[in-house]
Amino acid sequence: MKKFRCAIVGATGTVGQRLVALLARHEWFCPAALLASSRSAGRRYGELMRERWQLPLPVPEYARDMPVLAADDPAALEGKVDFVFFAADLPPEKARALEESYAKCEFPVVSNGAASRLVPDVPMVIPEINPGHLAVIPAQRERLGTKRGFIATKSNCSLQSYVPLLTPLLPFGLRRVKVCTLQAVSGAGKTLESFPEIQDNVIPFIRGEEEKCETEPLKIWGKCEGGKIVLPKKPPKISAQCLRVPVSEGHLAAVFAEFSQSVSKERILAAWNGFSGEPQRLRLPSAPKKFIRYFEEDDRPQPKTDRSLENGMAVAAGRLRGEGNSFRFIGLSHNTLRGAAGGAVLLAELLAAKGYLG
Ligand code: NAP
Repeated sequence: MKKFRCAIVGATGTVGQRLVALLARHEWFCPAALLASSRSAGRRYGELMRERWQLPLPVPEYARDMPVLAADDPAALEGKVDFVFFAADLPPEKARALEESYAKCEFPVVSNGAASRLVPDVPMVIPEINPGHLAVIPAQRERLGTKRGFIATKSNCSLQSYVPLLTPLLPFGLRRVKVCTLQAVSGAGKTLESFPEIQDNVIPFIRGEEEKCETEPLKIWGKCEGGKIVLPKKPPKISAQCLRVPVSEGHLAAVFAEFSQSVSKERILAAWNGFSGEPQRLRLPSAPKKFIRYFEEDDRPQPKTDRSLENGMAVAAGRLRGEGNSFRFIGLSHNTLRGAAGGAVLLAELLAAKGYLG
């Protein structure tokens, strides 16, 4: 099979590095261009990353001699790539304008950023949960005046630690959710070494994160109607608190869920155990075999031991307890894999399997 050629915009950042590494031996995709800001443009990727590479494996060989290009000229990629992974960190208006300029040059854009997530005709997809939202793409193409180009996004990284666990519980009359996220430093594009303020500390504020945690799930649980995503009429009410903690990778969520009816621990565990979706049915290359894994041990899941479950693409759960209509549990997911680069690659695989990259 001929591979799709992709560009990575923001290839020098935390998420971009993960993409560079994940795509080194991908079955369907091959990176053909690496892009970043004008500060990095013109240098060889390997040389530029000598001081900045954050991953335990070396920079993949294919990327070492690739030139880093400036991201502000999408037309320069015409004929060279088939689609774009977007992982540049820019103010929202600039990010949305740049994503749209790639789409208007007829590139499908798979974005990690927040700028376009709540636009009604932009699908924001967790492939196991709402693959049907890709159906808004023709309406978006019409708005943008494109034949091929469009933007699809993944959700915020912290959502991946609790929305996959709440979704199979919606049929039980999920009414109210309180969630406290304990988020790793890589979510801020940092390492433990480059973030001295986090040593021996917790920072009780992450700008914009609580709003995203409360609103993005509602779009994910929405319906595709008339070329846009319509929010559910009576969604569960979510309130969130988000904390930055001294952990390198892995966002943990402490969740309190209230239902309109009585539920049992057995029914919740059965719902989690049986939950899978299109990525598993289509056997997409990055799909975890088992999306949700429940740990019986009282002290699991933990970021250090459990974030890399199924190459960092599965969601871990534990400490389920409660009775009647009120339950508590812990969720965990790898923020730069399932929550960012891996989630974007899985979304691109879904788009390829459904014919949107062709
Ligand atoms: P990061 O480590 O700060 O990297 C930022 C990247 O953006 C770098 O490649 C940087 O290039 C590039 N960039 C900055 N200004 C630019 C410009 N004017 N034009 C083109 N490129 C520019 O950020 P990150 O953590 O990887 O996050 C990237 C995006 O993913 C953000 O939107 C973030 O919200 C989202 N995200 C991150 C995570 C996570 O866990 N980190 C999870 C989900 C989503 P230079 O090196 O040249 O400056």
